[in-house]
Amino acid sequence: MNTSYSPPVQTLVTELSRLPGIGNRTAQRLAFYILRASDEDANALAEAIREVKEKIGLCEVCFNLTDEARCRICEDPRRDQGLICVVEEPSDVIPMERTHEYHGVYHVLGGALSPIDGIDPEDLKIAELLARVDGEGGASDQAGPVREIVLATNPTTTGEATALHIAEELRARAPELTVTRLASGLPVGSDLEYADEVTLGKALAGRRGM
Ligand SMILES: [Zn+2]
Repeated sequence: MNTSYSPPVQTLVTELSRLPGIGNRTAQRLAFYILRASDEDANALAEAIREVKEKIGLCEVCFNLTDEARCRICEDPRRDQGLICVVEEPSDVIPMERTHEYHGVYHVLGGALSPIDGIDPEDLKIAELLARVDGEGGASDQAGPVREIVLATNPTTTGEATALHIAEELRARAPELTVTRLASGLPVGSDLEYADEVTLGKALAGRRGM
């Protein structure tokens, strides 16, 4: 790293290089772009970052991103509250929505089980999912019981382990509940986030019991 930058510039480069997919060179290029930009443009960027951190939180029911207590999907009376799609991250909701084939609601775990990285069941929103199945999830005022859980964690080692763990918990707790997993056909080892909507739509339509 070039240490001849003045400290504020160096700080900006360091912060930018922490973003995913941004190496040191790209971080430098972005930093110089920001330095050349008008005060107005640079402040708009800083303000946008501050605003999302201030206003965006997690839905109290499904843990998707929202600027209200509950997200728009949970609040939508046309969505089927008896069908819950379990995903790892809020960014996984977007490709599922793009398929236009899913009309249930979601449950965002906030990651996947990975004992090596110290991510255990209690670090994810698994207890909250079980509570929703038991009808304690807060959304039950407008809903009948949960009928089906679609496990749409990523087709990776950690995603599969997470799906298996949740399926076992659900079976022990609610044997009458249908638990399904997205059909194979999704590229193994990749993230849901990068799946195209046709492939994902097919994987959803062909989901199988676990
Ligand atoms: Zn929600």
